[in-house]
Amino acid sequence: MLTNTKYIFVTGGVTSSLGKGIISASLAKLLQARGYTATIQKLDPYINVDPGTLNPYEHGECYVTDDGAETDLDLGHYERFLNTPTSQANNVTTGRIYQSVIEKERKGEFLGKTVQVIPHITDEIKNRIKALGNTGKYQFVITEIGGTVGDIESLPYIEAVRQLKWELESDCIVIHLTLLPYLATSGELKTKPTQHSVKLLLEYGVQPDVLVCRSEYPVTKDIKKKLALFCNVAQDAVIEALDASTIYEVPLLMEKENLDLIVLKKLNVSNPPEVRLDAWKNFLNKLTNPSKEIHIGLIGKYVELKDSYKSISEAIIHAGSVNDCKVIVDWIHSESLTEENIQSKIGNLKAILVAPGFGNRGIEGKIAAIKYARENKLPFLGICLGMQCAAIEFARNVLGLKDAHSREMNPATSSPVIDLLENQKNVSHMGGTMRLGAYQCELEEGTLAYKIYGQKNITERHRHRYEFNNEYKKQFTENGMVLSGINPNAGLVEIIELPQHPFFIGVQFHPEYKSTVENPHPLFVSFIKAALN
Ligand code: GLN
Repeated sequence: MLTNTKYIFVTGGVTSSLGKGIISASLAKLLQARGYTATIQKLDPYINVDPGTLNPYEHGECYVTDDGAETDLDLGHYERFLNTPTSQANNVTTGRIYQSVIEKERKGEFLGKTVQVIPHITDEIKNRIKALGNTGKYQFVITEIGGTVGDIESLPYIEAVRQLKWELESDCIVIHLTLLPYLATSGELKTKPTQHSVKLLLEYGVQPDVLVCRSEYPVTKDIKKKLALFCNVAQDAVIEALDASTIYEVPLLMEKENLDLIVLKKLNVSNPPEVRLDAWKNFLNKLTNPSKEIHIGLIGKYVELKDSYKSISEAIIHAGSVNDCKVIVDWIHSESLTEENIQSKIGNLKAILVAPGFGNRGIEGKIAAIKYARENKLPFLGICLGMQCAAIEFARNVLGLKDAHSREMNPATSSPVIDLLENQKNVSHMGGTMRLGAYQCELEEGTLAYKIYGQKNITERHRHRYEFNNEYKKQFTENGMVLSGINPNAGLVEIIELPQHPFFIGVQFHPEYKSTVENPHPLFVSFIKAALN
């Protein structure tokens, strides 16, 4: 039995983008597979209060939790791996830390004192870390420190880790994720950058307990020995993390390297139960040995940066595995699409997904693609802005409202079929003020949506300011559009679909946020199934 919550910190060395999120999620998965409860938290060193105000080009997708937090995309990995929801408490930024310390200062909570990075900022960081343990829900709290050791902005976090190592003693360890670059000319993996980054950590007073080494080639015993010697780490705690063909393989690679067992040993947890990963292995097996292959199109405006649509592409992977099919996503820039070229651009695809987004850029391309899908019976899934575009397209080309638009794109439109939500009209602050998080949706029996979900009441996560304008409800339904999902409290339209079409569905919410390995999202599963037919 575990009496105290155990805290595991994951820091990064040498370069960014080594996959701290995936390593953290994989370790948590292994602990969960042994029957423990675990959660993962991400500390981001930037000054935005949350990533909700960041462009996807800056920081990839903004992930949204049930409780309406706009968070780092790593939280998506945590949920997809663990199949348990995260919340606001799982993502903390420097902006949020400073905001609450400054609020306390204004209230007079530090009256008479100089407010400083140490102890006030570090105390706030430590409180945020321990808050997850204090819920009593988790035996393990894994905290991923964003950025790379040596960054000026992550110093207060490393200092908080140093202090916690003292306070928590054997209930706390640090895993340092690092890179062993391969030099082709000498045919060697090099350890020096790792030695330097561990030295830097030591300068800040933190001794890592485990080194996880990203590498393109096997890490030999000699290299492990050398790293152990230079970095004061036990040799069996130097772990190889080879490049994997899919992120979903990483938990198994880490199991092979005994990462979880080493962590448990260092945290004085004896006699852990066996790892049970049957469902995971089953998923992975189907994912890596599909019997068929299809191409679908993902139409968006941030397609140069695939991280912008992380949850969507992962949900497609989950759905592909269920359908025993490798789904190849053709990323299509909406700005490149016109009514003239649409046949040649998407005519060969088995289905299209029109992505969420903000602003006018690329909007006409999305509408042209939806028109093609509607008229040619090509399976279509529209998410958030994708659903709004489907409503605009229908209004223009079926209802004959030539000027139909969303007020977001054309405030002067004479047919605002998509309009600002009532409670958005007086919003002046952009941060955290959209319609965010989980809301209920009631499905109409007999519709495609009802068939897909197999139940009447669902909840899905949202992130938008505009909505379907209910003044057009009658015109839409009289002309064949079915409004199959409605929010029961506000009467907002959540799902639109065309029954004469094999699969044409637009959703105001973001189903992709809720798709996990163990619970692939039914909308994506049915979408891929429709593409296969
Ligand atoms: N821009 C649209 C709105 O704010 C859609 C948002 C989205 O796709 N997430 O309503």
